[in-house]
Amino acid sequence: MNYSSHLPEAPYPWQKKAWDLLKKQWPHWPHGFLFSGQEGLGVEAFSYFVAQCLLCEESTSATPARCDVCKSCHLLKANTHPDLITLSLGEGEELIKIDDIRNAMASVMQTGHQGLNRVILMTSAEAMNVNSANALLKTLEEPPPHVFIILCTSMPTRLLPTLRSRCEWISFLPDGGKETLDWLKAQTPQANNHEAVLKAHHGFPLLALKALSDPGALLWEEILFLLSKEKDFSSEMGAYSFKEVLDGFLGCVNELIQIHMGGKDLSALEERIKEPLRNLKEKIPLSALFEFYTYLIQQKKKPFHRLNQTLLLEDLLFRWKRLYREVSC
Ligand SMILES: [Zn+2]
Repeated sequence: MNYSSHLPEAPYPWQKKAWDLLKKQWPHWPHGFLFSGQEGLGVEAFSYFVAQCLLCEESTSATPARCDVCKSCHLLKANTHPDLITLSLGEGEELIKIDDIRNAMASVMQTGHQGLNRVILMTSAEAMNVNSANALLKTLEEPPPHVFIILCTSMPTRLLPTLRSRCEWISFLPDGGKETLDWLKAQTPQANNHEAVLKAHHGFPLLALKALSDPGALLWEEILFLLSKEKDFSSEMGAYSFKEVLDGFLGCVNELIQIHMGGKDLSALEERIKEPLRNLKEKIPLSALFEFYTYLIQQKKKPFHRLNQTLLLEDLLFRWKRLYREVSC
């Protein structure tokens, strides 16, 4: 698991309350944390930040910190800190392996390499079976001093209740408040529709950030939903330029082609896009997708005028729907 990504670092403004609460509890932190929230809220980044504070040499008895310059912080940046064990789902896997959990437990029972604390950070914690959860529970019931377990999940109710009750559980929710909006504006000063984009992404600031930084990147998901719900496509897409819509379609078609050709495993995709993609894959054959892809590329090369936008969108949608009809007759 590598956390050194292009994203600005946690804690984010919408996580401030949670972080203030933890700062107050320091240095008497519980040995088990459960951080939950949907994708787009930076829950993993927050979990990683908490782990960093537990390991940073500049964390004093008065304040938890992450200095970025001590030896521990350098090791964390290089992803080689011996006292941080990360557990996550491997590609195509549905369960976190019990052997991995046992090995992690055995490892944290030994003396810390760098300082005192040892941390196990588990993402997709809902992917533990009962045996795995019980193995973890044993450690949480009688935690060795200086051992901390951080669980991170988007589906907290799937965790054993006994496991949840042994952890301090903090749940993150979408946020459209002023501080979050200001943060979004500071990250993407070139954009001018922050509030609308944040609203369109239901208050999930990191999804809004992705959309504002690269409008084509998430648009294909939005297009996917619109196509599957048969909503009024032209008016819903009115906020985007025709070029952006073409890019979104290209992303969507590209995704479907990859799934058809086995280059992408449907089961490994997020729940919310899995079903619409599966439906479209069944309705549209690969040859039609390739043809449509070529058409999109040709369209991208043509000059177009904003005044023609509605006509262009309707024509695009008409051609897209024809792909289905060819299959059903
Ligand atoms: Zn440090």
